[in-house]
This record gives sequence, structure tokens and C-alpha cells, in this order.
Amino acid sequence: MMIQTIGIIGAGQMGNGIAHVLAAAGYDVLLTDTSNAQMQKALKVIEANMARQVGRGRLEEAEMASALSRIKTVAGLPELADADLVIEAASEDEDIKRQILSALGSILKPEGLIATNTSSISITRLAAVSGRPESFMGMHFMNPVPVMELVELIRGIATAEGTFSAIREVVVKIGKVPANAEDFPAFIVNRILMPMVNEAIYTLYEGVGTVEGIDSAMRLGAHHRMGPLQLADFIGLDTCLAIMQTLYEGLADTKYRPCPLLVKYVEAGWLGKKTGRGFYDYQGEKPTPTR
Ligand code: NAD
Repeated sequence: MMIQTIGIIGAGQMGNGIAHVLAAAGYDVLLTDTSNAQMQKALKVIEANMARQVGRGRLEEAEMASALSRIKTVAGLPELADADLVIEAASEDEDIKRQILSALGSILKPEGLIATNTSSISITRLAAVSGRPESFMGMHFMNPVPVMELVELIRGIATAEGTFSAIREVVVKIGKVPANAEDFPAFIVNRILMPMVNEAIYTLYEGVGTVEGIDSAMRLGAHHRMGPLQLADFIGLDTCLAIMQTLYEGLADTKYRPCPLLVKYVEAGWLGKKTGRGFYDYQGEKPTPTR
């Protein structure tokens, strides 16, 4: 199947990054979100990120202009009906994803494919809700999308070979490296990464180290590019908590118990960089620890 027009549902951190790389590779992108403000913000972020790439010589100025002209924001799911592929990148909340996917399944043209960018939720379960499980699979981009090379590809139990190969081709065309993962909670990258992030939050919760102490220990002592608390803020604490809950419930193992401090931060609405406050406060000139 020829894929040219790609719909994206959710214009948050991931939605804007996915729109960026698809448009830069020549796809026509239709971006939607329930929040108009998020869509407008996404367009600004994409433009700024592309301008940075131009500044570094990674993108031609003319390519940037044509890529931006290929991204259109649309008001809702009905406007995605003619897309060849729709990528769902809304919040990591199974109820929200279920609502979107069951509506999309009845709106999208019959030959249209659906992918979800979920970090942890069962692809087979979401595929069933869409009503077209053979045309459905997981396409898990990494954050920040324009920078990270990998995309995990996850088949549901009913995913057709044609769906897999068409979506794999998109991944290759945008210059990313596909990696296959089985449909287990949080797949490969987050199955390994998120328990480490959760453990870093326990380390803070138990007073073993301060925010800065923990982050610099992992940067200097394990050569991680970002400290785990800085990384949690970057991912979004709501997303981190949702992934831990999926691991905890899906694998029924107490070793995945989300740290109560993570729960508290999410309850406070301190979701990390995207809300201006998490383990660090981002309002000032440079991030300052909140504990
Ligand atoms: P985000 O909070 O930045 O954005 C989520 C967006 O979804 C928001 O703009 C919100 O308005 C929108 N939304 C909510 N309900 C909607 C609906 N019914 N219809 C349309 N839009 C709706 O979150 P994010 O970090 O971009 O994460 C999005 C998805 O990508 C999640 O499934 C997450 O697990 C996954 N993901 C996140 C990361 C990461 O590092 N943040 C990495 C890989 C995958």
C-alpha cells in the first residue's frame, strides 16, 4: 500500500516530533488535538526545531519551507478519514486511547492503517477496540523524535504482514532504525528504562540522595547523558507513572510498584518540563531542584 498522507492524533511532545520527521521526509501530515492551543504550540515548536536543524546544516532552508507547508492542523477525527495511515499519539491513558481508536476505526477509510505510539499499553487490546486489528500495530517513537534513531515496531496478535511491512517502510523512509518488540507491557526500551527512573525516584524518596546528587551521580558515574530525574521530567511524570502502572498491573510483580513520590507529583499537576515544574522548576533561567 502507498502511504502519502499521515494523520497524527495528539499534538504534544511526541505528536509534534512525529509530524516534524514525517513532513521532512515528504509525507503530507494532518495533525489534530482536542486542544487548539496545543496544535498552535506544536507548529511553533516544529518551526523552531527545524530552524535549529537548518542552523546546524542538517536541513536545507528550502526543505524546511516545503516541510512546514506539508503540515496541516485539522479540527477533529472526521478530517482524518482519507489518511493512508493514522498515528495515535495522545496522552498515555487507556480510556482516552480507547475512545479515540473506536471512533477512528469507524471513520477511517477501509484500507487505512492505524498505529499507536503508546509507551506501554497492550497493542492487541487497543487493536481490538479499533475494530480493524489486522490493520493495526504499535509504532513507538523515542523522545525527542527528530534526534533519536530508534522506532520500536510491535505487532498485535492479528496484525497483517502487509500492515507491518507498510509501516516498517515509513520508518526506514524517515531515516529511523526499526526494532521489533513483542507485545508485552512497555516493550523493550521502557521495560528497561522506566524501572530505573522509578528507582531513582525511590532513591530520592528514601533520602539516599538529593535531586542534583542523584542526577550527577548517574551522569558522572554511569555516563548517562541525562540524570534519571531530569529524564523523568523530560518524558513527563504522568507518562512515567502510566508506564509504571501498566508494568505493575500487566506483569503482576511488586518490583514495578510506582514510587509514591511520583504519584504525588502527578497528583499535584507537576508533570515535568511540559508544565514548567517537576523534579526541577523550569520557570527561571536555569532549572532548579524542587526538593
Ligand atoms: P503530551 O502530554 O505532551 O501530549 C499528549 C497530547 O494528547 C496533548 O496535547 C493532549 O491535548 C492530547 N490529547 C488528549 N486527549 C486527546 C484526544 N481525545 N484527542 C486528541 N488529542 C488528545 O504527551 P506525549 O509525551 O506527547 O505522549 C503522547 C504519547 O506518546 C503517549 O502515549 C506516550 O506514552 C507516548 N510516548 C511518549 C514519550 C515521551 O518521552 N514523552 C516517548 C515515546 C512515546
